[in-house]
Amino acid sequence: MGSDSPAPPPGERLFTPRARDGNARRGTLALTHGAVETPCFMPVGTAATVKGLTPRELREAHAQIVLANTYHLWLRPGRSVIEAAGGLHRFMAWDGPILTDSGGFQVFSLEGRRSLDDDGVTFRSHVDGSQHRFTPEGVIAFQEAIGVDVAMVLDVCVKLPATRDDLERSVRLTTHWARRSRAARSSAATALFAIVQGGLDAQLRERSARELVELDFPGYAIGGLSVGETRAEMYAMARRVAASLPDDKPRYLMGVGTVPDLIAAVDCGIDMFDCVYPTRCGRNGRAMTRAGHFNVFNAAYVSDFSPIDPTCDCAVCGSFTRAYLAHLFRSKEMLGPRLLSYHNVYLLERLMRDARAAIEAGAWSSFRDGALAETDG
Ligand SMILES: [Zn+2]
Repeated sequence: MGSDSPAPPPGERLFTPRARDGNARRGTLALTHGAVETPCFMPVGTAATVKGLTPRELREAHAQIVLANTYHLWLRPGRSVIEAAGGLHRFMAWDGPILTDSGGFQVFSLEGRRSLDDDGVTFRSHVDGSQHRFTPEGVIAFQEAIGVDVAMVLDVCVKLPATRDDLERSVRLTTHWARRSRAARSSAATALFAIVQGGLDAQLRERSARELVELDFPGYAIGGLSVGETRAEMYAMARRVAASLPDDKPRYLMGVGTVPDLIAAVDCGIDMFDCVYPTRCGRNGRAMTRAGHFNVFNAAYVSDFSPIDPTCDCAVCGSFTRAYLAHLFRSKEMLGPRLLSYHNVYLLERLMRDARAAIEAGAWSSFRDGALAETDG
């Protein structure tokens, strides 16, 4: 797929802004496998599966686009299997848009098992210890070959807290690699987003955004946040970076997926989000509601015959009780994690649908204040 399609025109437009209320934006992202209404939450399917949920269930939960991860798919099952399957969409039987992260975050997390140079990063697989090398060009070629709708550039991630020298190097290399990634593109079917780095250093963040905007990508992500800093620090930086990015391009805050974080980030002018949070919580018995979280293992739920979230209109809340979920988890029945993952994903998709309607209606600030007042985290 992809390599014989024409090169994309410079300055291509994927994003149509529809409405704005304060800094919150309502838009449409036109991708090869369909349109995505924003703001949107993207469930994470690291290994070509959103854990526990079928593509049909993802559609029912109103997921419009899913994530997969280059690092994981590169190692297993590998490019040749996915290409032989006819691309990632056919392989995982999801016909909607797919975004792949570049794997930069995963590779840079392999402390002691990776070495960075100006040209790329060499690392040992967490699966079998084999040696691999990521370069900006190789990572683009992989994402185009498996036919995703949005590919991310290979960026240089730094663990916080970091020295200014380390942050400066990560920004310099991230820009250099973004330029090489841009030049390496060969498929008009796969859009390429750049990733703003710079840690919690406002000057470096603004420099990173400025340098990447000069390269004119169709979309921009904010990486290296939601990695242990305080919420106030994350929101302040997201607001600052969003203000440095063009109005007519989508903005994606990576790794964010709680109710208050989504609301605060939409309020900063962010359009796209992804996080393993709703499915990880779902597997561990943690139920998300508009009012906060609860753990289904808590004794209080053993004979609580109310739905997970009384305000939720998902199929799980329409049929099953907290008491039944508590029983399934205590009995280690596999239906428990499946039902709770479904509900948690649905909850965030519903939150984004409601946010879109509020922005369109010019009622964003009252929706935001109501949602933040209702939730305890
Ligand atoms: Zn529900």
